[in-house]
Amino acid sequence: MRFSEFGLTTLKEVPAEAEIVSHKLMLRAGLIRRLASGLFTWMPLGLRVLRKVEAVVREEMDRAGALELLMPAVQPAELWQKTGRWDQYGPLLLRMSDRHDREYCFGPTHEEVITDIACRELRSYKQLPLNFYQIQTKFRDEIRPRFGVMRSREFIMKDAYSFDIDADGLEISYQKMHAAYSAIFDRLGLDYRIVWADSGEIGGSKSQEFHVIADSGEDAIAYCDEDNYASNIETAVTLPVDGKRPDASQSLQKIATPGVQTIQDLCALLNITARQTVKTLIVEGTDGPVAVVLRGDHELNAVKAQKIDRIASPLTMADPHTIREATGSEAGSLGPVGLQIPVVFDHAVAGMADFSCGANEIGYHYTGVNFERDLPLPETADMRNVVAGDPVPGGIGTLSIARGIEVGHIFQLGTKYSEAMGASVQDSGGKDRSLEMGCYGIGITRIVGAAIEQNHDDNGIIWPEPLAPFNVVIVPINMHRSDAVRVAAEALYEELQSMELDVLFDDRDVRPGVKFADAELIGIPHRLVVSERGLEADELEYRHRRDDESRNLNREAALNLLKESAIS
Ligand code: ATP
Ligand code: MG
Repeated sequence: MRFSEFGLTTLKEVPAEAEIVSHKLMLRAGLIRRLASGLFTWMPLGLRVLRKVEAVVREEMDRAGALELLMPAVQPAELWQKTGRWDQYGPLLLRMSDRHDREYCFGPTHEEVITDIACRELRSYKQLPLNFYQIQTKFRDEIRPRFGVMRSREFIMKDAYSFDIDADGLEISYQKMHAAYSAIFDRLGLDYRIVWADSGEIGGSKSQEFHVIADSGEDAIAYCDEDNYASNIETAVTLPVDGKRPDASQSLQKIATPGVQTIQDLCALLNITARQTVKTLIVEGTDGPVAVVLRGDHELNAVKAQKIDRIASPLTMADPHTIREATGSEAGSLGPVGLQIPVVFDHAVAGMADFSCGANEIGYHYTGVNFERDLPLPETADMRNVVAGDPVPGGIGTLSIARGIEVGHIFQLGTKYSEAMGASVQDSGGKDRSLEMGCYGIGITRIVGAAIEQNHDDNGIIWPEPLAPFNVVIVPINMHRSDAVRVAAEALYEELQSMELDVLFDDRDVRPGVKFADAELIGIPHRLVVSERGLEADELEYRHRRDDESRNLNREAALNLLKESAIS
C-alpha cells in the first residue's frame, strides 16, 4: 500500500473523550472513528488489524473442527420468550418492531437462534458432536459504553455453540474450545490468564474466562501461581474462618457519634482501623429485607451474595424508606445488634471480637461488640470480594490480585436452552434426550484494544507481529528530489510485496520526521529507511519498533531478517 493512496489521517492531539491509552491511540492512529455513543467505524487501517484477528480465530476454530455459519443479527421475540430471556435480559437488549408490529431484538448473543437450528436439523445422536460458529456483529445497550471498542454497544463477536448427546461429550467439546482459545491467544502474542468465572445471565454450570492482563482492565482477577489457581474476583471463594475468635475484652458501650456517616468517619473519631468495625447493608430478600454484615474493610460481592437463598437476585439495595421501616434508622448508623430482620454475616465477621458498628439510632454507634454476649452466634456466608493475601480456597498459598480485560468466555450450558426450546435427539437406545450444549465467545473487536493496552510506548502502538496492519514500512528520504532513492525504494517495495509481506510505502512528500512519527504511532513492527547515503554504502537502515537504535544492513541481510521474523 502506498501511503499517499491510503487516505490515512493521524492526529497529534489526544482526543478529549478517550480515557485509556488504547482508545487514545486507536483514535490518534486513525484505526477507528466514533459515530455515536458506543458506535465506531473501523477505518481501513483498523480493519486490516480486525481482519488479522479474525483470520487467526477462524483458522483455530476450523482446526478444532467447528463449522462456520452466519445467523441473522435480528431475532424474533418469540424465541426469547420461549427461554424466558425476553423478560430477564432487561435494558441491555435492543428491542424493535417491524411494520406488522412484530417484536424483534438485535442479537446480543445467539443461544436461542442456534437452538432453533438444532430443533430443526438434529434428529439422531449420530449427527453429534457438532460445533457451529460465526463471526458477527452484536448489539448490547451497555449502560456505560466506554474505552472505545473495549466496551462498545455494537461489537463483533466470534460465538460458537456445541451440541452433544451427554455430559461427557460436552466436557470433550468444552476442552477442545479451551485448547483452541489458548492457541488463539498464544498466536496473537498476548499475555493472558484463564480464570474461573460466573455464568451470568447466560446460565449453565462450568465457565472460564480468558483475560488479557492490563492495569486498565475492568475485571479483577484473583490468582496464585503456586497453586495454579485463578478466578474472576466475582467468583473467587472465601472459606469460613477456622479457629476461635479472641475473647471479649471490652464491655458493650453506646457512644454518641454525631455526623458520622461512613466507616472512615467512625475510624477517625474512635482512632481505630476499619478491620475493627463492621458495616451493615440492607438488601432486598426473597421474603422482606435482609441485613448483610461485612468487616469494615471488606467489599460486598454482588455475584456471590445474590446466590444466597434468602437474598433476592439480582442483588438490590433497599431504598431509604424500607431501611427505616426495617431498622428504625438510616444508612450510616446501622448495625446487627438488636436488628429484627434476618441478618447474614460474611464468614470473616465470625472471627471478630470487640468490634464497632452502628446502633440503629442516628448519631450513635456501639463499641466493644461481641458474639454470644451481645449477639447470637452468626449465620455466615461467602459474600465478600477476596483481597490480596487471602488464602487460596482449598489449596496452598495466598492470592494476588491483577486486572484483566475479558477477551473470551467459554461455558457449559447443559440442557438449559435445549429443554426450554425442545431440542432433543434420539440416543443409541432410541430414547429422546435433550441436547447438552456449550457456548464459547471471543470479543474480536475488544481484542484489538486489549492488544494495544499491552503493547505501546510513549510514541504509539507496538503491534505484535500477527496483528500488525502492515509488517514493514519503507521510508525513503528525499525521494521527490533523488531519482536514485525513488528507483531503489520502488524496487524494494516490489520485492517485499512479492515476499507476501504487508508493506506500507511512505511515498508522501513530507519531512522524514513526520514519516517516522506516523510509523511509530501506527505501530508497524519493521522499518526500512532508503537514503542516498545508504545507497552509496549499499545499505538500508533497519529498525524494529521495539529497538532503541537503528542499524545498517545490506539489502540481503535486511530481507532475510524480515523473512524470518515477519512470516510466522
Ligand atoms: P463483560 O463482562 O465484559 O460485559 P460479558 O461477560 O457480558 O462481557 P459475554 O457474554 O461473555 O460477555 O460475551 C463474549 C465476549 O464478547 C466477551 O468475553 C467480550 O470479549 C466480548 N464483549 C462482551 N461485551 C462487549 C462489549 N460491550 N464491547 C466489546 N466486546 C464485548
Ligand atoms: Mg463473559
